[in-house]
Amino acid sequence: MGGSFDPIHIGHLVAASEVAHRFDLDQVVFSPTGEAWHKPEDGRAPSELRYLMTVVATAADPRFRVTRVDIDRPGPTYTVDTLRDLREELADDHPGHTAEWYFITGADALADIVGWRDPERILSEVHLVGVTRPGHALADPGLPQARVSMLEIPALAISSTDIRARVRAGAPITYLVPEGVAHLIAKHGLYRPGS
Ligand code: NAP
Repeated sequence: MGGSFDPIHIGHLVAASEVAHRFDLDQVVFSPTGEAWHKPEDGRAPSELRYLMTVVATAADPRFRVTRVDIDRPGPTYTVDTLRDLREELADDHPGHTAEWYFITGADALADIVGWRDPERILSEVHLVGVTRPGHALADPGLPQARVSMLEIPALAISSTDIRARVRAGAPITYLVPEGVAHLIAKHGLYRPGS
């Protein structure tokens, strides 16, 4: 599951759990993106803190783990690199193991996939799962239907953008993010004006 996770919230966790259930997945590997290059840096959390928040948020669930592949690779995050590095990581941890791969992310992000690096390769290697918030019209990315699934997740009414805005405005984020994530946001003064 790829994402900025800036910050990770309950909607991401519900989405991961629901996709794991629907597709009978053994494991969901969360991969926070490296430093943003296509977005303004203002008010964003550095990659190490996004990684830390993701670890804290997923710690209690035995189906979830977090990888550093995108955090540790210099330069922009391309999904084709994420998938290659994850395969290597799995081969190191479980030699000889074969796996069926899914790439889960926001349906909005997925809608642009034709403009990503090497989309044909991504499509040939994984089944794509786009998760979306309720009431959000899904753009048809024009992808082969057998390789792509779209899933509406009611809990994705929560969004990272809204959480950052709430922190900036001094509004509570209790219950929108796991408790440990709220503590990290407060401790490091994330998303506050001037941060
Ligand atoms: P983003 O622009 O931060 O997010 C776009 C939308 O998708 C937002 O509404 C976001 O909601 C939602 N979203 C993102 N990740 C999600 C997730 N895991 N579960 C549910 N909703 C999610 O997108 P991004 O985070 O930068 O990119 C998403 C993934 O696509 C990353 O793994 C990234 O590396 C990959 N990507 C690859 C390329 C490429 O290969 N060229 C280009 C773009 C993106 P929230 O803000 O609430 O999460």
